Amino acid sequence: MQKRASSFKGDRPPCPVDPHHTIHRHGHYQRYANCNDNEEEEIGRFLCLPCGHTISVLPDHRLPYRAVPAALVEQHFDAQVNPGEAQKPPASEKEKGCLKRAWARFKQRVVSLTASLGQMISVLRPNAPQLWKQLRQQGNLPAMLRQLADPFNTSLLHDYLCLLPWSTSSR
Ligand SMILES: [Zn+2]
Repeated sequence: MQKRASSFKGDRPPCPVDPHHTIHRHGHYQRYANCNDNEEEEIGRFLCLPCGHTISVLPDHRLPYRAVPAALVEQHFDAQVNPGEAQKPPASEKEKGCLKRAWARFKQRVVSLTASLGQMISVLRPNAPQLWKQLRQQGNLPAMLRQLADPFNTSLLHDYLCLLPWSTSSR
């Protein structure tokens, strides 16, 4: 499963099954850090010995499985909903492609996100800009992603199996 870095205190995430379990460092893996090139960054990995499960810790400036940085996505989405007011972020051609796909993906997610979030969304059947504005009231994108992961077990652009607690995901 995956945890966001700011969702726990200390140098390692707690076991979601039992916080008393001992968690060990379990190496790390590389993933692409952005759309532009082959820059990579390390994602820390931890292991709960009693459960035998691994937990990856995603830095707060990252979206699950998206190479484009959260700050760019936030700025791009803000520009989508406030045309003329919010500045589009400076982005390379490749990043522009990533951001365009992210917004297109978000538009497809409006119905399911609204259903997942329930009363947190005060607009009936929001369109994508309305939903983004509602989500932005909760804070910046990292704060939003943290809240979507816990308690809602979802993310902005996908429902990820890796965000589910172990008890409900396949082992
Ligand atoms: Zn455990």
